Amino acid sequence: MKTNLSKRIISIIMCFCLFGLAGCVNNTPVDTDADSTTPSSSSTTTTTTTTTTTTTTTTTTTTTTTTTTTAKKEEEESTSKSTQKSTTTTTRRTQDENPNHEKLVALTFDDGPYSPVTEKILDTLQKNGAKATFFVVGDRVDRYQSTVKRASNLGCEIASHTWSHKNLTKLTAAEIANEINKSTDKITSVTGKSVTLVRPPEGAVNDKVKKNVQYPLIMWSVDSLDWKNRNTQKNYDAVVNSVFDGCIILMHDLYPQTAEAVAKFVPDLMAKGYKFVTVTELMEARGVTLQNGKKYSQARP
Ligand SMILES: [Zn+2]
Repeated sequence: MKTNLSKRIISIIMCFCLFGLAGCVNNTPVDTDADSTTPSSSSTTTTTTTTTTTTTTTTTTTTTTTTTTTAKKEEEESTSKSTQKSTTTTTRRTQDENPNHEKLVALTFDDGPYSPVTEKILDTLQKNGAKATFFVVGDRVDRYQSTVKRASNLGCEIASHTWSHKNLTKLTAAEIANEINKSTDKITSVTGKSVTLVRPPEGAVNDKVKKNVQYPLIMWSVDSLDWKNRNTQKNYDAVVNSVFDGCIILMHDLYPQTAEAVAKFVPDLMAKGYKFVTVTELMEARGVTLQNGKKYSQARP
């Protein structure tokens, strides 16, 4: 009797070892398997003896742990392999399409237009063959129409920073729509071009804003803090020390020190291989398809 029981125990253990091995070979999704397998094996073995149940449970647990570890390792390896592969492909593709491997930057200005500063920025952009994106406040556009037209004619992008610079998260759906539509209509009436991007004031976004703004929400990845610095050298350093290929730089065309910093860093960064493009151009160059109500702050190669 004792011998029979031992034989049964041994055969059950072997059975579960084989199950475990099969799991390793098949490399099935570990989490789901572990959860669904454990209860069913226990219920089968409960009919045998108490001793068997304990042994089996232990064996199953051990096997599951091993499977988890193996699967995780393989997953990590395959992730790193695919990352390497995609990096190689991207580099090769960029080099093929663009022998100079241009580094792209989207310089953006909020809260304008304000001709005394915006015009100086446009002078720098024109002189260097650079472009920028101006997120204008709608109710300022009429006052500085000629500046907005000049920017648009230079190939700069004119986008919406709402009609009256209100925090959109604090508005109703109808008020949000009004802030956006009024501003985009105004811009189009001046430039003759449709608006395709919105930057929410203060960068304030919540689910309601995402749902009710029927444009992509453009954020930033390099914050110059020019509104706080009001210092040409500090603005310059903030940009030059943080710039990277595919970044979106945030500035405000309201302060003279901002225009002065732009006059310095645009030629300096161009000498280092950076090209100043609009946000739309940056996204297109990087194959990013913009979707309404989604946030974007960069487009790395
Ligand atoms: Zn603003």
